[in-house]
Amino acid sequence: MYSIIEQLYFVPSFRKDVISIEDEVFKGKKLEDSVLYQLRESFKAKDSIYKPLGLESFAKACRDIEGKPMKPTDQIDAVEFMNILFESLENEVKATKYEGLVKNSFKGLFSHEILNKCAHNHNFSRDEEFLNINLSVKNLKNIKESLVQFIEEETIEGYSCKTCEKKDDALKRISIKNSPNHLILSLKRFEFDYNIFTNVMILDYFELPSTLNIKPFTQHELSKKDGEVNEESKNSDSELSPSHFEYKLAGIIIYSGPMGSGLYYSIVQNREDESWYKYYQDKVSKFDPKDLPEEAFGISKDSKSLPFKNNCAYVAFYDRIKPEKVKEEKED
Ligand SMILES: [Zn+2]
Repeated sequence: MYSIIEQLYFVPSFRKDVISIEDEVFKGKKLEDSVLYQLRESFKAKDSIYKPLGLESFAKACRDIEGKPMKPTDQIDAVEFMNILFESLENEVKATKYEGLVKNSFKGLFSHEILNKCAHNHNFSRDEEFLNINLSVKNLKNIKESLVQFIEEETIEGYSCKTCEKKDDALKRISIKNSPNHLILSLKRFEFDYNIFTNVMILDYFELPSTLNIKPFTQHELSKKDGEVNEESKNSDSELSPSHFEYKLAGIIIYSGPMGSGLYYSIVQNREDESWYKYYQDKVSKFDPKDLPEEAFGISKDSKSLPFKNNCAYVAFYDRIKPEKVKEEKED
């Protein structure tokens, strides 16, 4: 639990938004049960970078699957916990002026497209909100290769076009339509092994680049390549500056095995002065980003020096280098 909350604390816009929530939001609520209230209080109380957040009361407000209060040291799946937390925070601010508390910092949009090769080139697309992108690591070298795989087209045989009802093969693909100021990338480090009927950890060497350009993986860019400039994508980001797509690595959640009984910890950058820290349970130390490959990239196939090493990155936090103002969402 520590690992996630420390990461979120260091996201400047999210921290500011949480701390700025006024008491009126909690009127009539039991404060000890309010995840948002407890989060705000623990953010407010942090007075030194070398002191981990006090999360006792926050954890008590969170419930595990059995409905029991949690403990800050609980080692639950970091991505699962993050998703549940985001949902409950958004629920608490629903219909208040703070709506979008999580989405303002982390929400992006996927575009799901079906490119129909019927005689009339009828295409379909639908959008889906995301708060993190879940990427494969197996047999892949780095984030860029994962994203290439992520947007790979798939053929649907005998797809019947929804407009002209002609049946033909079509292409299906997913891509990034909108990206947030803070892009969360979770990695598929666990895999179910059907031979032994249990989850196994994929420790393969996998790089997190210090900078990342996501332009090649955006819907706009892909459709430009296809020569299909549709009206929608023309309007949405043709005026975007190149910096819109530029991100830098600012935080990593590490899983340290063995599988099932390991723990999560965080390496995170203080955005104000760009210094790095390691939050290992309740211990905090300075961190040199030069040590990141050793700490977070897993085991390279030809390295035999560290047979017992079993820590690797599980979630990466990328910041847009030049954060943009979040547009107010239009009501339809
Ligand atoms: Zn058609």
